[in-house]
Amino acid sequence: MSEPLTDKAHIKAVKTAKSPKLVGVKGMNDILPPESARWEWLEAQVRGLMARYAYRNVRLPIVEPTALFVRGLGEVTDIVEKEMYSFEDRLNGEQLTLRPEGTAGLVRAVVERNLLYEGGKRLYYMGPMFRHERPQRGRYRQFHQIGAEVLGFGGAEVDAELILLANDLWKVLGLQDVRLELNSLGQPAERQAHRAALIAHLENHRDVLDEEAQRRLHSNPLRILDTKNPVMQSVVEAAPRLLDFLGEASLAHFNAVKAILDANGVAYSINPRLVRGMDYYNLTVFEFITARLGSQGTICGGGRYDYLVEQVGGKPSPAVGWALGVERVLELIKEQGEALPDLAPDVYAIIPETADLPVAMQVLQALRAQGVSAQMHAGSGEGMGSMKSQFKKADGSGARFALVFGAEELARGQVAVKSLRDGEGAQRTEPLNTVAEWAHSLQSPL
Ligand code: ATP
Ligand code: MG
Repeated sequence: MSEPLTDKAHIKAVKTAKSPKLVGVKGMNDILPPESARWEWLEAQVRGLMARYAYRNVRLPIVEPTALFVRGLGEVTDIVEKEMYSFEDRLNGEQLTLRPEGTAGLVRAVVERNLLYEGGKRLYYMGPMFRHERPQRGRYRQFHQIGAEVLGFGGAEVDAELILLANDLWKVLGLQDVRLELNSLGQPAERQAHRAALIAHLENHRDVLDEEAQRRLHSNPLRILDTKNPVMQSVVEAAPRLLDFLGEASLAHFNAVKAILDANGVAYSINPRLVRGMDYYNLTVFEFITARLGSQGTICGGGRYDYLVEQVGGKPSPAVGWALGVERVLELIKEQGEALPDLAPDVYAIIPETADLPVAMQVLQALRAQGVSAQMHAGSGEGMGSMKSQFKKADGSGARFALVFGAEELARGQVAVKSLRDGEGAQRTEPLNTVAEWAHSLQSPL
């Protein structure tokens, strides 16, 4: 590794570089129209649903102290070991990290702002996360999560509520082929007992453990159960199950979650090997998985994390939540062949003469105030262009109507309204001074 460039040296290197072309960072995507319309649509569905469950939105910093993730997620995790974008603040030497997930920052904010003072909280967030992974379909270096978190309540009913919420979201979004896997990780003492049995089992099969598993054997053996290495599958399948080590209270919690899901017709399967990427989980853990996206099929994961608030320096407080991967959900929607949301404006304004722009734009403002979406023809800077070229643009925009601000109509205090789609009637004129009365006739039915 070479020394990091100082600002000045980097600026100099940039200025003397041969290639003038700059490209974005690998694994970080530009989200552009028309695809961005799907994002906006999804976000609107999420906001609506969160409101129906009375979850409130939080917007948190993208940069947090590195220590938050080391302490919160656990040192021996994929994220902390190899995926974080960490750097030193040039000015004060602080160790900082681009957030790789949202839960730790949210818990930090809840503790710092004493949000649990007046009782539990139901919160959600949306935004970019950063992990230095090998980019591939469904796996990016900047990706986006939507997360829902409930803090301050220890009962199984909030675990179930969160699962019902996610399940409703799949319905609202029209997702097909999503299945739910459930497990319980129990409590620390139960995990301790299981851990000893697990290590003993894995040690008996040391010869088939890969390098990573060898390394985690004593630091984080539970994560070995999560391996994708085919050579280790049979050893992992024969390993002692954490579920068999759960005490009465943990089992009762798990059964209570299941009973609520059963009563609400939510199908699930128990996966005793389901563990999660972060150390902070206990009791209920779950994932929503689709078979349609290959090996990046987990669209949402979550669980209970009753010890994280304390870990981050707060008064002990139970918590549970999930996070979904927006790119993967959208890829599934695309995979299902859903059409893109219609971006066409209601009207396209054709303005033959530059001199008529002020009055035409006044009319467009009045239309927009009535909720009509109006796209104005924009000229080259040397005039507005021929009627023919303007009509071509109008057709290309997909608008239902062209508004033609011709000199003759304007002289009579009118504008021509011309249907751009077949079968919607011929041309008509409307008065310029009663826009509110006819604006709605231009709007597409919802
Ligand atoms: P995976 O096993 O696929 O690496 P994970 O366990 O690391 O997932 P979580 O930390 O639980 O993932 O994040 C929740 C969700 O965020 C995942 O289920 C997935 O949909 C999405 N996600 C995680 N990492 C990425 C990534 N690098 N690119 C795109 N989406 C991601
Ligand atoms: Mg991962």
